[in-house]
Amino acid sequence: MRLIDLSDAKGQIRVEFAGCNMRCPYCVHIHQPMKEWSVEDVVDFAKKSTTENVYLGGAEPTLQKDLMPLLRQLHENGKRIILKSNGMRPAVLEEALPYVEGFVLEIKAPLDDIQAIMELTGMSEERSKKYVKLLHQSLDIARRKWLRIWIRVIPEYVNKDTIPRIMPDLEGASEVMLYQFMSNPEFDLPFNGHEGPTPSWSEIRELGEMILPGVEQVRLVGDQGKLVLK
Ligand code: SF4
Repeated sequence: MRLIDLSDAKGQIRVEFAGCNMRCPYCVHIHQPMKEWSVEDVVDFAKKSTTENVYLGGAEPTLQKDLMPLLRQLHENGKRIILKSNGMRPAVLEEALPYVEGFVLEIKAPLDDIQAIMELTGMSEERSKKYVKLLHQSLDIARRKWLRIWIRVIPEYVNKDTIPRIMPDLEGASEVMLYQFMSNPEFDLPFNGHEGPTPSWSEIRELGEMILPGVEQVRLVGDQGKLVLK
């Protein structure tokens, strides 16, 4: 398996996979160095930890051919797994259902705005349209478990005008996480002229308040820390 990082801190084992089937222009992960690990190495690492929580993220975990054996073995060892995905491979999420506690899926912009999707993913029009269909299927599967939908708030694409068009796709999520773009330069590359945290924390909070009536809770993450709205 190709990994960017494997860590155990703050009550969570984090497995960060390398490689993605998108080319988002602000993504740091697709440029980070990778290292080969076997399933056994990752499982042994997890077994040595006292925490039962495992987060599988990074770039795109569903591309790893050994993902299912890893999920199965972690599950057999009593680990509680959260699987992140960009939603391009719903069949993998369906197969993962028996082994995971929940999913994290990203919505990047209103899903009816193909031009925005193309700009945010680096994909062609045809591939972006296909992605939207696949993401809808993935959301339907993921709603059967705990589901966090996370939204990277890049102000040209996610704002007071576009949130109402994103809201229908948030239905059934256990929580929505709004992440202030560039608030952690380890996660984002400058994009569209943004080189620091944007939009402001007060605007992130306003967007969170707009979303809150439609979901159980909204988690805000940015340069002011973290805040949960319920
Ligand atoms: S931002 Fe996510 S979907 Fe986009 S290239 Fe990076 S890992 Fe893939």
